[in-house]
This record gives sequence, C-alpha cells and structure tokens, in this order.
Amino acid sequence: MKNILFVASECVPFIKTGGLADVAGALPKSLDRTQFDVRVVLPDYTCIPEKYRSQFHYITNFYMDLGSLGKIYVGVFSFELDGVTYYFIDNEHYFGGDKPYGEMRFDIEKFIFFSKAALSILPVVGFHPDIIHCHDWQADLVPVYLHTLFKSNPFYQGIRTIITIHNLRFQGIWDIKTIRSISGLPADIFTPDRLEFKKDANMLKGGMVYADRITTVSRTYAGEIQMPYYGEGLDGLLRAKSGTLSGILNGIDYDIYNPQTDSKIETTYSVKNFRKGKTANKRKLQKELGLPEDPGVMTVGMITRLTDQKGLDLVAWVMERLLDSQIQLVVLGTGDPNYENMFRHYEWTRKDKVSANIYFNDERAHKIYASSDAILMPSSFEPCGLTQLIALRYGSVPIVRETGGLKDTVEPYNRFAGTGTGFSFANYNADEMLSTIFYAEQVFYDERKAWDAMVERGTKTDFSWNNSAKEDEALYHSLVG
Ligand code: ADP
Repeated sequence: MKNILFVASECVPFIKTGGLADVAGALPKSLDRTQFDVRVVLPDYTCIPEKYRSQFHYITNFYMDLGSLGKIYVGVFSFELDGVTYYFIDNEHYFGGDKPYGEMRFDIEKFIFFSKAALSILPVVGFHPDIIHCHDWQADLVPVYLHTLFKSNPFYQGIRTIITIHNLRFQGIWDIKTIRSISGLPADIFTPDRLEFKKDANMLKGGMVYADRITTVSRTYAGEIQMPYYGEGLDGLLRAKSGTLSGILNGIDYDIYNPQTDSKIETTYSVKNFRKGKTANKRKLQKELGLPEDPGVMTVGMITRLTDQKGLDLVAWVMERLLDSQIQLVVLGTGDPNYENMFRHYEWTRKDKVSANIYFNDERAHKIYASSDAILMPSSFEPCGLTQLIALRYGSVPIVRETGGLKDTVEPYNRFAGTGTGFSFANYNADEMLSTIFYAEQVFYDERKAWDAMVERGTKTDFSWNNSAKEDEALYHSLVG
C-alpha cells in the first residue's frame, strides 16, 4: 500500500471556483484503493456548506511557527467521504469570509500558512505519505519546505513530491522580502535559479524547482508551456525540467455529469433519445430565460470565466455578425466587468438572441449543457478544459480553438470521412472563429444527419477518470517503486 497525500486549495463537493476543484474531488476517488491510501488536505473555509462542515470531526489543534508572524493557530478536522479521508486546516483569520480567494497579498500569506500547515499536521494525524501531490501555486511551497525547514526532521525523510500545474498563468508572486519574512524560508533559496523570478519571489517556481515530478493537465499543454508564447516567463525552466514534466489529461466525474441520471436537468436522456431529450430541455430553458421558444434554433452555450484566457475578446470582436446568424447565445459566467457588461448589453439590445447569466450557478450550468446544441470555447490557451468534456457527455458539440486540452480532446469534424466530435480552428483570430461557427451552423441546419452522428460520436468518447487515474497511478509507481 502506498500513501498519497493531495494538497489543494479547493475540492468538490466542499468548495469550487474552477476546474481544479473538479480534479481534486474526482481523482482521489478514482485511484485504485487496493494499492493507494489517498488523503486530501484542504483549508477549512467557513464558506464550505454547513451540511458538510457540521459533520467534520475535530482532531486537535496546535501552534505553528510562521516566520516573522510567530506562532499561528492550526486546528485540524477530518471527514470521510466515498472512502477518502479529508483533513481540513482550521484558522478563521485565514479561511473566514464568503469566498476562498480575495486580495492577493493576503492570499499569498494564507497559502504560505496552508502549505506549511499541511506538512505540520502529518505527524499529529499519524499519516506518513510516500508521495505528496500538490496542486497549483497555493500548495507549491510544500516541496520547498520539505527540502529546507523540514529536511532534518526524521518524520519527513523519503517523502517524494509531485506538483500539478492546472494553469501556468497563476503563479503566486510577491516581493521577496514579504514572502521570505512570512514563510521563514532561508535567504539562500531566493536566487534566480530557485524562487526568485524577475526580482520577486514565485511560489509556483519554487515547487517546480524542488518537486520530483511536474505534471500538467494535457499533453499538448505540457509541450506548449515549454515555448515562450505559452510559458508565462517560465518556459526556460520548463524546458530544463522537460525530463520530469508530463501531461496527464483530466477527466470528469461521470456520476455527476450524466444526462441519464442528472437530477438538475428537466428531462434526462441517453444516446438513444438525445434529440428528443435535448429538445425538451431546450424548450424549458428558453422559457426560463425569456428567449423565443423555438426548439429548432441552434443554441450555443458558453459556460466560462469571463476572462481574456477564454477568448472573450474574439467573441466581442464579431458579436454583431454572430448575432445576425441563426443562433441563440446563452452565456453563464462571471469575471472581467467589461465582458460581463458586454453580454448584459447584448441581452438588453438583442433579447431575441442573447441570454446573459452573469453569476455562478451549478444547476444552471447543467441545464445549459443539456439544452445547448453547441458549446463555444475559443480559448487563447487551455491547460485541459473541462467544459468541452462535459459538453461531449451531454451531446453538445464543442466549437473550440486548437490549443492545450481542447486540441487533445476534440477531434475536428471531417465531412468526407464522417469522423470527428466537434469543430475547431487553429489561429487566435476572430474571423477564423466566426467562420468555424458558421460552418457548424451550416452542418446543423443543412446536414442534420451528419450533425446527429457527430453528437453520437461525442457521447461515446470516454473522458471519465478511468484512463487518467491509471496514468497517475503509473507515475506514483515510477516514483516509489
Ligand atoms: P477553468 O478551470 O479554467 O475555469 P474549465 O473548463 O477547466 O475552466 O472548468 C470550468 C468548470 O467550471 C466547469 O465545470 C464549468 O462548467 C464550471 N463553470 C464555469 N463558470 C461557471 C458558472 N458561472 N456557473 C457554473 N459553473 C461554471
């Protein structure tokens, strides 16, 4: 039996702001329990729903040294769900409030505390991991601490580390003086070959330097980030580390995302009756959203953070022309106020075509997946992307830019061979995107049989965790034989 510890800042079903939470929730459950004892460390955010929090078991508390801040309270709670043990680190100063992240300076301090606490609780709870698997910058000081302040402590000997980069854009950067002072890490690691990055300190870079392995969430993204265009300033280090870098595709939870059993949608359906099922869902959603009730019109959904990464500037550029075509556009997302207001504006002026839902709502997301004919994802970069995987499962045809995980999971439609599961375009260019959407519309309206066959191929792809979990297992075996 090998002991694996996940360290993450969010995890379904407790707390979610993005895809990381889906991964941290689904992967531990999917690993072979006869070979791995997997446990997960999370912050005990007070905004975790009470129905879970009220069931957490108090284990203990102690005070932990945190650099210049002195002794800080660490409470430890545990909870078991689906055979996985979760540890929650309690400290209301850091994890209070109504959302997990906020102002960056405070987040930096919060996750320095979290990373050190995740290691400090281990002797107390009596779990000795063979491998610690750290997710994103919020957990990436773990390998750094192991190789410095915890190095001479016998308990921590032999622990191997993996960091997974879910999005290279977010790195946890602040000035060296602050990070050094809060973390208590030795001065000699704040050099350009270790944590220093353009005169500041970079927590993700620390993880990359000290971890035994680096993974990211698709093969294409693992290649892309070694190039300057996608490398966010770290491509050089990633090239140097290419021998320990690999891409393992995320999956989605096929129990949660299952149109045959989904209680969040109006009418459940399977591959056999998807046309009928999706039409029923579409009618209901159109009514709910105040769109013209026309089951024949092509509905394009966008369920996404409204940021530049997601290609919203391309959409903004061609919006008028897009809305002159035969579609209804249903947007669900929050983010950059410019994009939020753009969609509000179009909903206001083009009520017959646009529904702008500027909030986060999981139930509505399910309803949109179930009723859309296509899902648009013109990302400028996309480490893996879960939205297109969910779309495939619900019979919504993905229209994507060929980057990162989008490239690895959506096979472009080939009308001659009768293959493919979606539509894609190569260059980050609004006109290219628009002509791809128009091509999709043409197939939808004029070649309905071909469209339905494509939907069917999409629903038959397997992006559950089965395959990815096997790759992670192989990685764990390769690290600790
Ligand atoms: P990222 O992690 O970069 O935000 P992904 O495609 O990997 O993008 O994952 C996004 C996840 O969050 C998907 O499960 C998607 O359905 C969900 N999501 C995004 N925006 C919203 C929203 N406004 N309401 C509900 N779910 C959302």
